[in-house]
Amino acid sequence: MRDAGKATASVLKLLALSIRPGMKTSELDTIASSEALKLGGKPSFKGFRGFPASLCVSINNEVVHGIPGDRIISEGDVVSLDFGLKLRGFQGDTALTIGVGKINPKTSKLIKVTKEALEAGIQAARNGNRVGDISTAIQKHVESHGFAVVREYTGHGIGRQMHEDPHVPNFGQPGTGPVLKRGMTIALEPMVTAGDWRTRLGNDGWVVYTADDSLAAHFEHTIAITEGDAEILTVN
Ligand code: MG
Repeated sequence: MRDAGKATASVLKLLALSIRPGMKTSELDTIASSEALKLGGKPSFKGFRGFPASLCVSINNEVVHGIPGDRIISEGDVVSLDFGLKLRGFQGDTALTIGVGKINPKTSKLIKVTKEALEAGIQAARNGNRVGDISTAIQKHVESHGFAVVREYTGHGIGRQMHEDPHVPNFGQPGTGPVLKRGMTIALEPMVTAGDWRTRLGNDGWVVYTADDSLAAHFEHTIAITEGDAEILTVN
């Protein structure tokens, strides 16, 4: 899991360094798949329930599951990149959101708060705590800054499969849900909007938009529960 996480993180880092205004989103997909193969990994999203690409690229009012293609990335776009790979039988899954070029202060705050919400969730991910403690930590942080958490999509257990039990919602009640135990590996992924939490599905059956077309941000790490602080696996 550590090796898969590390490889996944290094692909995402390369994508973050590569993104430029004027680029087609399909160029990012090409980078993701070729870098994954170079590291000995296999992109997990490609073919998953028929998803046609190795990477999800979700821009502005798109929350998750954007399909790379001919769309050109522009200055001021808010771009979420979500990538997963399988390496020697284990999965890594990680995401981040980047403001391309100059973005306004409220947009930077949305991105910052989403990243912090992931960190708050990781802090709550401790042996003996429950999934609801993670959910609560994420929701509280987001809502205290006037943003909203998406409810229809959640984090998840991860291991040999990309999606395993338990579901890890980004909203909930403390002290509820499955108990977290040392050795469990889960992917936490707050999806946050600048407006309403509701979403709608695009005509392609994949891309998830905010229902009110407000901006969205998404950060994700694969982590392992330990006796102390959780270990983040999707780091270089
Ligand atoms: Mg995930």
